[in-house]
Amino acid sequence: MYPDSLKNLIESFKYLPGIGEKTAERLSFAVLELDDDQVDLFSDSLKDVKKSIHKCSICNTLTDLDTCFICNDSSRDKNVLCVVEDTKSVFLFEKLGVFHGKYHVLDGLISPLDGINPEDIGLSSLLDRIKNEKFKEIIFAFKPSVEGETTSLYIKKILGDLKIKITRLASGVPIGADIEYIDSLTLERALNDRKTIE
Ligand code: ZN
Repeated sequence: MYPDSLKNLIESFKYLPGIGEKTAERLSFAVLELDDDQVDLFSDSLKDVKKSIHKCSICNTLTDLDTCFICNDSSRDKNVLCVVEDTKSVFLFEKLGVFHGKYHVLDGLISPLDGINPEDIGLSSLLDRIKNEKFKEIIFAFKPSVEGETTSLYIKKILGDLKIKITRLASGVPIGADIEYIDSLTLERALNDRKTIE
């Protein structure tokens, strides 16, 4: 019943997570209400973000520079590396301002049931980095889950007897699915109460 162009827009909105038919329709009608300038900015942003965002050559965080703003910041604590499962976690930590060291972003967590094996999550760049930079502590800040636990233990095992303290966030932190709902106090507490992985 909708004209093709409107139908295409509705279908496009449905590519996004959490957007069903009704919301897609509502958003599409809202687009029709925008000024031409706003629509131009919107459509240009969609193309730009896809073209200019890539992974930081050091830490794997999404950035539009060669190396990200965190890797470029010489005031960060070079002794502590926080390993996370996705870039969203980096932005969460940064937004809450609870961590001042360096990050490394994996391509997800090991999950054999979903066919995600250790070689699929970009561990080699993490291991190279750990060998080349002199970290005193590595924090695994994964969501509390079987996958997070499996990944932590796997990395800990391949690091073998490197003399580095390896810790994880205190449990009870809903990192991951509900990442945007964590408050800074909860995350700060989980970070301060972090446990050494034996
Ligand atoms: Zn970086």
